[in-house]
This record gives sequence, structure tokens and C-alpha cells, in this order.
Amino acid sequence: MFFDPTYLFFMVPGLLLTLWAQNKVKGTYRRYSQVPSTMGMTGAQVAQTILSKMGVQGVRVEPVAGELTDHYDPGAKAVRLSQGIYNSTSLAAAAVAAHECGHVLQDVEDYKFMNVRATLVPAVNLGSRLGPMLIIAGLILNFLGLAWLGILFFAAVFLFHIVTLPVEFDASKRALRLIDEYGILQGEENKGARAVLQAAAFTYVATAFYALLNLLYYVFLLLGRR
Ligand SMILES: [Zn+2]
Repeated sequence: MFFDPTYLFFMVPGLLLTLWAQNKVKGTYRRYSQVPSTMGMTGAQVAQTILSKMGVQGVRVEPVAGELTDHYDPGAKAVRLSQGIYNSTSLAAAAVAAHECGHVLQDVEDYKFMNVRATLVPAVNLGSRLGPMLIIAGLILNFLGLAWLGILFFAAVFLFHIVTLPVEFDASKRALRLIDEYGILQGEENKGARAVLQAAAFTYVATAFYALLNLLYYVFLLLGRR
């Protein structure tokens, strides 16, 4: 690989923002992991309650290893909650469990951004590997058409992270409404849940920003080659 100081100039702000966002989400998560809710429902119970009250059938709620590994798997129809969420009665657990149920509801309703995001997944998997290779090969062979094809993959990755934003924001919006509406959290407790989900949302913004800088760097690199 070659070293380019311009790359650092482009990527350092993105890297710093990403690290800051990750640090913030961890801090907020730890803080509200220690605050139990009045209702005392575990993350698993929160998810099961929301799903049954919303009349969703055939979606399992199961534990998964790791920290902050919580997700909804639309293929397996499973809400997977990390150990720290699944068995915890904290405000953070309620927020995260409800957020994953937000994704279930998006799936049930055929939420359009979720579908667009799913369509982009193969391009992203292929693109993050093939993109850099095409650009480097294009530059070495002095065949810029190939390099621009690589840019297209980076653009797909960026688009994926942009489409992720409404999907995540919408899941959190639904989550906050449901935990309040069903009395899972009460009064001030809702603010804790909001803080956790807002911190998580910011990591998605940081990731999208990082992907944008990456794209801009390569565009800048190729334009400089002409
Ligand atoms: Zn999510």
C-alpha cells in the first residue's frame, strides 16, 4: 500500500467523530444500565410485551452473546438481545429492546427504507472489498474507468449508511412512543431511554460521515490524476 498524507487529512475528522460517538454511546449505555425501571421488566419482557400488544406473531425473542450486539434478524424472524439487555430491568435495556421491536414493526409494515437498505447489503459487502482494489488497480494500470467503477462501490456504501439513518431514527421513535404508551417506563425514566437511543443514533451519523469522507477522498484522488 502507498501512504498518502491527504488520506489522513480526509479521514482523521471522520475517525475522531466516530471514536467520540462510540465513546458517548458506551458511556450513556453504562450509565442507564445501572438505573432500574419502576416496572422492573427485563429487556426480554419488554420485547415480548410490545410484540404481543402490537399483535405481532411468529417473532422470537432470544439472547445473543456480546455487548451492544442487539439486533433484529428479519430472515430468522428473531429479536436478539445481548445478555446485558435480555436479563436486565434497566432503562437502557427497555430502550434497546423496544428499539429492536421498532425494526420488527418496520418489517411487518414493509417500511420502504428498510427494504432499500436490504437491497444495498450485497453491494456493500462486495463494495468494501472490491472498491479499494478496483481503485488501486485502476491507478496502477492508469485505467481510470476501472477506478471510477471502484468509486461507484464506495458511493453504494455511502448510500447504504445514509439509508440506515431513517431506518434507525424511525425504530427509535417507535420505541420511545411504545415504552411510554404501554407504561413500560414512567415519567422521567423516558428521558433516560431517549438519551440511550440518541447516543446510538449519533454513531450512525458518524459512520455515514466517515463513509462520505472515504468517498470524497477517492474522488479527489482520481480528479487529481487527470
Ligand atoms: Zn437499529
